[in-house]
Amino acid sequence: MEQILSDYLHTHSFTHFDLKAVIFDMDGVLYDSMPAHDKSWRQTMDERALHHLTHEFYLQEGRIGKSTIDAVFQRNLHRDATDEEIKKIYARKTELFQQYNSGKILPGAAEILEFVQVNGLKPVLVTGSGQPSLLDRLDIHFPGVFTPQTMVTAFDVEHGKPDPEPYLMGLQKGGNLKPNQAIVIENAPLGIESAVGAGIFTIAVNTGPLPDSVLTDAGASVVFDSMTSLLKNLPDFFQIVRNVQL
Ligand code: MG
Repeated sequence: MEQILSDYLHTHSFTHFDLKAVIFDMDGVLYDSMPAHDKSWRQTMDERALHHLTHEFYLQEGRIGKSTIDAVFQRNLHRDATDEEIKKIYARKTELFQQYNSGKILPGAAEILEFVQVNGLKPVLVTGSGQPSLLDRLDIHFPGVFTPQTMVTAFDVEHGKPDPEPYLMGLQKGGNLKPNQAIVIENAPLGIESAVGAGIFTIAVNTGPLPDSVLTDAGASVVFDSMTSLLKNLPDFFQIVRNVQL
């Protein structure tokens, strides 16, 4: 782990970490919501006889709805979807998601947020989701952890993941931080790409069906197989982060 952290510092021309914040993705990191997203996307496309690829919606996680729909349209119909089609398809997908989503949080997520705060670090949320009730829901499951000042949602950015903009804004919301003052926890290749593009050390938690290699290829420095295994390793990790320098 020390070598991996040193490599990051070297690549990004920092001499040390000065950790102030931990930036969390939401779906597949805090909430066990990806199976419901995947199932509702697949059913929506099946209802229109539009072919989709294995794990396509896990691979596309983090993209805005329009991009995901256009990719399927291009493959099947060799054209983008019309605004009307996008509206209808996204409405159907959202309807099914509300039906399938258990609302369950991932085991270990609440404990990690608590451990981060106990260590004097600020938790920040960066999500491509744009549900109006997001903060209410977060406040029920993780009371008092996130505020509008520490959240970046679909409403805040012009370019979604994999563009670096969401995580660059996450650094700002963390307190105008430099990339060596935060780390990111992500589960999706495009989210990892976005965080790495913003220059931040990125930990992947592989809570879905994709092979680890997809996450490391996207730029993750380290991969844990669950939030509970990340939780177990976090004390050691913070210790090394505090001590490592070039
Ligand atoms: Mg995610």
